[in-house]
Amino acid sequence: MTQRMALTIDGRHVKAKMGENVLAVARRKGFDIPGLCYHPRLTPTGGCRLCLVKIEGRPGTTTACTLQAEDGMVLTAFDDELEADRRSLIELLLVEHNCDCLVCESSGGCELQDLAYRYGLDKRSRRYPSPVQQLSEEDASSPVLVYDPSKCILCERCIKACDEIQGKEILSYAYRGLNAVVTAGPHDWAASECDGCGECVQLCPTGAIREKLDAKPPRRWEMRPVQTTCSYCGVGCRLDLWVHDGRIAKITGSEMVPNFGSTCVKGRFGHTYIQKDDRLTRPLIRRNGELVAVSWDEALDEVAARLSAIKEEHGADAIAGLSSATCTNEENYVFQKFMRACLGTNNVDHCARLCHASTVAGLAAAFGSGAMTNSIEEIEFADCILVTGSNTTETHPIIANLIKRAVRYHGAKLIVIDPRKIDLVRHASLWLRQRNGTDVAWINGLMNVILSEGLHDEAFIANRTEDFDAFREVIDAYPPERASEISGVSADDIRAAARMYAAAPAAAIVYSMGITQHTHGTDNVLSLANLAMLTGNVGKASSGVNPLRGQNNVQGACDLGALPNVCPGYQAVTAPETRTRFEEAWGRKISTNVGLTIVEMMHAAHDGGLKGMVIMGENPMVSDPNLNHVEEALKALDFLVVQDVFLTETAQLADVVFPAASFAETDGTFTNTERRVLLVNKAIDPPGEARQDWKIISDLSTRMGYPMSYANAAEIMDEIAEVTPIYGGISHRRLREGELQWPCPSSDHPGTKFLHEAKFSRGLGRFHPVEYVPSARSSLRFISWKRRPTA
Ligand code: SF4
Repeated sequence: MTQRMALTIDGRHVKAKMGENVLAVARRKGFDIPGLCYHPRLTPTGGCRLCLVKIEGRPGTTTACTLQAEDGMVLTAFDDELEADRRSLIELLLVEHNCDCLVCESSGGCELQDLAYRYGLDKRSRRYPSPVQQLSEEDASSPVLVYDPSKCILCERCIKACDEIQGKEILSYAYRGLNAVVTAGPHDWAASECDGCGECVQLCPTGAIREKLDAKPPRRWEMRPVQTTCSYCGVGCRLDLWVHDGRIAKITGSEMVPNFGSTCVKGRFGHTYIQKDDRLTRPLIRRNGELVAVSWDEALDEVAARLSAIKEEHGADAIAGLSSATCTNEENYVFQKFMRACLGTNNVDHCARLCHASTVAGLAAAFGSGAMTNSIEEIEFADCILVTGSNTTETHPIIANLIKRAVRYHGAKLIVIDPRKIDLVRHASLWLRQRNGTDVAWINGLMNVILSEGLHDEAFIANRTEDFDAFREVIDAYPPERASEISGVSADDIRAAARMYAAAPAAAIVYSMGITQHTHGTDNVLSLANLAMLTGNVGKASSGVNPLRGQNNVQGACDLGALPNVCPGYQAVTAPETRTRFEEAWGRKISTNVGLTIVEMMHAAHDGGLKGMVIMGENPMVSDPNLNHVEEALKALDFLVVQDVFLTETAQLADVVFPAASFAETDGTFTNTERRVLLVNKAIDPPGEARQDWKIISDLSTRMGYPMSYANAAEIMDEIAEVTPIYGGISHRRLREGELQWPCPSSDHPGTKFLHEAKFSRGLGRFHPVEYVPSARSSLRFISWKRRPTA
């Protein structure tokens, strides 16, 4: 239980938490004590001294940010003397600050300007003359930000943001006194290791570090922030899109879970595509080999007629659809409903097939659920983190920050198992370099050590799992020496990693596509699940098996049934009760055939079995393996319709192209890698005649005789909740009050932080005996691309 203390501030009694600093307590209770160097996400600096307070019984003043609250403390936060001191301090800051507020981009968002206004420090009332200002030159060498030393108040927030939040340690001070500046290294910003995450921009209290934008942004008060969710990766950072005159002027991080204001370079600066001139703005139909602009009616009629004709002549299974891991949950739901209820086929899939299908298969077999077991924020508090097959700093930067914080501030042990010297290696206690494709061997080796040294969790194995004996038999055959021979990792390192992982009270496994994208990817995932169960590291905070999903909504697209074998909520299409549930809800028969996967679709199209395809927001001509084959397959179709924001490589092959809205132009939700459902809010209108994907699909479905008439995305989510038990308690109304993690089965359920707490989703966790099988990579080129038989 958190210990609480009682303080008195300006005669008011307030409660403080153990370890809290006085400034945080005071601000939480509404005392607006100024402070420019302080930020709640950073360690206190006490540099600007504006948060001075008096403590009864002690001489002088002290900075509230560096003062820990003590029980019975009596403080003065505001009196004439303190306010006069603060006024003087701000005057001194203004002496060295280039006060060009008339033209400064940060005007209206500058904390120093706000304080100068609050303390009435206009030019006439300032007592200290500015020295003849030698305006130091800006460093504009970074591709994404600009540093203006003349506006820098040396508060250290940027340095600490880079160091403590992002773990990059790139910024520091150079020179002294009036010449002191922030520097990114001995040369300019561009020559440094700065990757442009913009944490320094976010936390700069003045305009000293700002975004480098194509055009000068509007003043802060001219823009309105729209809170939404990043559309790039599975972390699902919350963003504020700053809108002016129907355009996005800039992006900042929202101070909300899971990123608490941080972003990476993509989330903060990678938004210019939304307003590019080459966005699709009108529907296109191929006429005489050329794509020509037509009306929506003409395009929709053409698609409805062509798909109906294929269905009539060849049957519904001659059509397939690719849904999208970048579109919203609502769009994925509507898309798969269109394929299943309107067209009558389960031929629906999306790019998760190519990244984490082995995760879903492996974790579902072991635990009963294919999702990340724990939450992002728990990673910071794990005692040991085993990262494998994930260059987390590059692919999920905000999660990498938490891993670094776990090591630096909470004493966690980090084990990196990766052939590459990834960034996290700098922070690791152990770095094991396995030969590519030998993951089962080193994992089995770790488990052999754990078992032979008695480091396993006997009670957990006995009470929570099954099939242990068969598993143990296999593990006994992988002593560290044999695992070493196969994997190239020394036997001593295997022993050290096993002991480190098993000794931790809470150990988390973090992995990504270095584990899944193998011919034996499912075996790799099963082995990691075995390792976690062997040590009792499932079903408790800061532990678990944590696959990091790639694109922003891979999780949601899977959850909402954009898969050929399951309807929304992973309800098998082969189960009669699933079909009954959806047939009743949708008023149409559901096919009993498991549909084609992406890979099978391409084979089927190539071989002539598939005649038509609908592709929403995916670009297989870039993202799929064997692009020559994909091109031949798509060209072999009788009819291809693509909806997207650009005329992508895939859209260029289409017969009809629908212009779609981007994430900034639509409402809905994404589900991030930790099962957290996050609102996406429309900030601007789509360009030209572009429309939201769910509207396009609904219109098409209606024209094909299966009406869909949703008023908005919230209404679609309501329908999702009715037919998808894991989303049963989720609605846009609830999400506006805070995000929810599934399973969230009812409207009063708070959501689920980590899975499998009292029991596994499948009841007992299941051990799988997994033997090492050499990688098939070397023989891939000989594999025939003939379609394999479907299940
Ligand atoms: Fe977007 Fe991922 Fe970067 Fe967050 S970490 S800003 S979700 S790309």
